[in-house]
Amino acid sequence: MKKKDNLKVKEDYLQKIKLINKYNKYYYSESKPLVDDSTYDKIKHEILNLEKKYSFLKSNESPSLNVGFKPSKNFKKVSHKIPMLSLGNAFDENDLTIFEKKIVNFLSLKKNQKIEYSVEPKIDGISASLIYRDGIFVRGLSRGDGVQGEDITENLKTIKDIPIKLNGNDFPSEIDIRGEVFIDNFEFENLKDKFANPRNAASGSLRQKDPNQTKKIPLNFIAYTFGYSKKLDVTTQSDFLKKLKLWGFKTNKLNKIISGIDNLIKNHKKIETQRKEINFDLDGLVYKVNDLNLQKRLGFAANAPRWAIAHKFSANNSISEIIKIEIQVGRTGAMTPVAKIKPVNIGGVLVSNATLHNEDEIERKDIREGDTVTVERAGDVIPHVISVDKKKRGKDTKKFIFPKTCPSCGSSTVKEFNKITKKYDAVRRCKNEGFDCEKIAIEKIKHFVSKEAFNIDGLGKKIVETFWKLKLIKTPSDIFNLDYKKISNLDGWGKLSAANLKYSIEIKKKIPLDKFIYSLGIRHIGQENAKLISKNLKNPNNFFNLSNKSNFDDLLNIDGIGDTQIKSLKNFFSNKSSLTVLDQLKRKLEIIPEKQKSSSGSLNDLTFMFTGKLEGISRAEAKSLIENNSGKIISNVSNKLDFLVIGEKPTSRKVSEAKHLKIKVITQSELIDMINSKSV
Ligand code: NAD
Repeated sequence: MKKKDNLKVKEDYLQKIKLINKYNKYYYSESKPLVDDSTYDKIKHEILNLEKKYSFLKSNESPSLNVGFKPSKNFKKVSHKIPMLSLGNAFDENDLTIFEKKIVNFLSLKKNQKIEYSVEPKIDGISASLIYRDGIFVRGLSRGDGVQGEDITENLKTIKDIPIKLNGNDFPSEIDIRGEVFIDNFEFENLKDKFANPRNAASGSLRQKDPNQTKKIPLNFIAYTFGYSKKLDVTTQSDFLKKLKLWGFKTNKLNKIISGIDNLIKNHKKIETQRKEINFDLDGLVYKVNDLNLQKRLGFAANAPRWAIAHKFSANNSISEIIKIEIQVGRTGAMTPVAKIKPVNIGGVLVSNATLHNEDEIERKDIREGDTVTVERAGDVIPHVISVDKKKRGKDTKKFIFPKTCPSCGSSTVKEFNKITKKYDAVRRCKNEGFDCEKIAIEKIKHFVSKEAFNIDGLGKKIVETFWKLKLIKTPSDIFNLDYKKISNLDGWGKLSAANLKYSIEIKKKIPLDKFIYSLGIRHIGQENAKLISKNLKNPNNFFNLSNKSNFDDLLNIDGIGDTQIKSLKNFFSNKSSLTVLDQLKRKLEIIPEKQKSSSGSLNDLTFMFTGKLEGISRAEAKSLIENNSGKIISNVSNKLDFLVIGEKPTSRKVSEAKHLKIKVITQSELIDMINSKSV
């Protein structure tokens, strides 16, 4: 390999290390991850692969050598007498076979010698080290970077599972007991908005500067190992776990002793299906060589013990149980069934909802409340149910009957007939597309404030929901009439944040017509169609006057607007609640008309239509050329048309219709002359 290539590899390697350390800081120190675990793991994996491939790559900051992140300045730093390390990972049988082989080789054991493992659930929390002198809890540390931890004694003292004094009297005169601090899934539900997952929630709550803040969040502790210890009278990990229980610690009920890779895998599968019954977050199982003497001989590699490994659960799917099927009603009335499932950790994210897509999908898969299902979560895709384990179905489950009326407003619902596919839509919709249906209205408001619409800083979906519940907002116009005094007194708000919100809203009172049209969330009127309508109607009043039905005909001439869009606009303008909302908004806002382009030298609002193949230019380019010169494209031959531009093989019906209506018929080169001469 050339020197130049080596430099490039090194640069790439160091860049990745820099990135991973940035992610570590946010994850471990701030408890606010910047990326999800799969993104993090992918980069870490790339670094490790580079190190394997190129022996010249070395960095003291490599994740192959380090654990966690350096202690925060908020706490006193204390060195661990025995480092607190991470764990190696195994994902399948092959990984486990390699792990066991390495142990056998390291200890020079006979090939068929069975190794006994202490098998323990891997709780996804954060580890802590508790130092007991003569049975009294004297100091508690976080893992930190594995070498130095943070002194969080007072915070740990707020956790009821941590005994201040050990029971009995057969404990060593000094011992550092280690275990996991974690949060129950249902407690996490209340902290969901603040933390990405239960592990971050446990870490964020435990490492508060003020222990009184830690006290507010119920944290749990399960003990599983020791670091430093003066004379300890046990020979196996499983016996040590028994001692922990006698001394007053909680240990995991699912701890077991197992030998043989086959049996480890069987147990892993079993626990994976039991996860849904456990009220805290597991991300795998930990296998530890049970014999403490062998553990001592095996010792540690750079950042993990050689005698233990974490057998992780799948990072993109998991098994759970449907507690309930709920119907969500979207902005356009679409009714989406959502399965509320027993929470499970899938790739570092606690999943408690999974979409069931639509009525047909439920019917096809015969998905029922109480069913055991496999849920997939991959990339940014919304978690969804992929299959049902019908063998696990209870006798008294009932077929799910999809509601025929809207669960929000009680209106009748419909599955539309698609003229093109000649099939009924899979999606059932609430017929009430206006603001009378509560669920539709709230979704419409979320759309109204969204980035592409009014883009109001500080007024996200969650806040819209809170304001809705507090009856501060019922329709979009209420946004411009908020009670800021009341808002400043709400939990998490203050005078300054309320004033900031007021400012963000005030500056958005002036809005271009196309954005305004888009913000109304009319079905089939997305950003592009809103732009087309705005360009064509120019003035906000022309839009408001669409309620006078005959005006819709004008829109049919817009290239890109068809029957579907017109039907949807007609629906909107025939709905009383939509008209009231429009009227209220009209009074509150300044809607900027479509910019009138200078007419000198332009096509000056003349209308054009093409027929036949153009030479050397696509239809799209010709269209944009006309529009850039202030001309308009329409899609029908009518007396609204000024010029019919003919290319190769024009449709003769269109040409004769145009001639009949005395519309000028021009060639492509005549059109180009018109644009160039600017002398229309
Ligand atoms: P780890 O959490 O995968 O495994 C080690 C930990 O397991 C121990 O520190 C201990 O806290 C815990 N554990 C639970 N039960 C145990 C038991 N019975 N015995 C022993 N230990 C037990 O390793 P890690 O190095 O702390 O973290 C790596 C994980 O964190 C990866 O999954 C990674 O994706 C994630 N991470 C994500 C980001 C991000 O930005 N998203 C950043 C850093 C790390």
